[in-house]
Amino acid sequence: MTAPVKIVLVYQSLLGIYGDQGNSLVLRQRLAWRGIAAEVVVVEPGEALPADGSLYLLGGGEDNAQTTAVRELTRDGTVFRAVENGAVVFAVCAGYQICGQTFTIGENDEVREGLGLLDVTTRRGAERAVGEILTRWTRPDGSEYVLTGFENHGGYTYLGSDAAPLAHVEKGVGNAGDGTEGAVQGRVIGTYPHGPVLARNPALADHLLELALDRQLEPLTRAEIEHDGLRRERIAFARR
Ligand code: GLN
Repeated sequence: MTAPVKIVLVYQSLLGIYGDQGNSLVLRQRLAWRGIAAEVVVVEPGEALPADGSLYLLGGGEDNAQTTAVRELTRDGTVFRAVENGAVVFAVCAGYQICGQTFTIGENDEVREGLGLLDVTTRRGAERAVGEILTRWTRPDGSEYVLTGFENHGGYTYLGSDAAPLAHVEKGVGNAGDGTEGAVQGRVIGTYPHGPVLARNPALADHLLELALDRQLEPLTRAEIEHDGLRRERIAFARR
């Protein structure tokens, strides 16, 4: 029997306040619907991250929690080795920011070192980005897919030359009001939308799974339809 696909949910006590842990359930369920066993492993600060994760998920959180998360992940060290070995990292909002080179915290915009997994830097923007966001993501097959989510961040993120945008903004702020949203560098993907974003965008969930498993997955017609109500309603709402 092959071992279950391991989905590692990183530091819920620090990066778990925006409901992004729902992304782990979406990934596990979409594997289950295909008959692929998967387990979600929740790891808290002070506990060792499993080294054999296929996907590592980071979610949104507050400024101080971000600093603690970087310290603990750096001390643990596993995430860096996992990325080198081909694991997927999917990071949302605060999680996205800490994957970068630097980010800032607090009213005084104090600079903090990130994990350096993404060539991006974040600093406080002119105004907080809060609201529905719609972006256009080009899938690996070249087709375009609208991503829907809810953004809520004071930090604005700027991409360096090693990172590519995940998507382009139709509505909302995204990285920094520059038309780009999220970042991709190898198998590390950062993005701002909550939702949870994978519940609203099943095609993105399947993309992450295909990256992690290194193979194409059967399309899930029935499940796609089940997810479609929320997705269509949110896209229509954002375009109103
Ligand atoms: N503290 C960060 C910011 O406001 C991240 C917030 C979040 O995760 N929603 O930019």
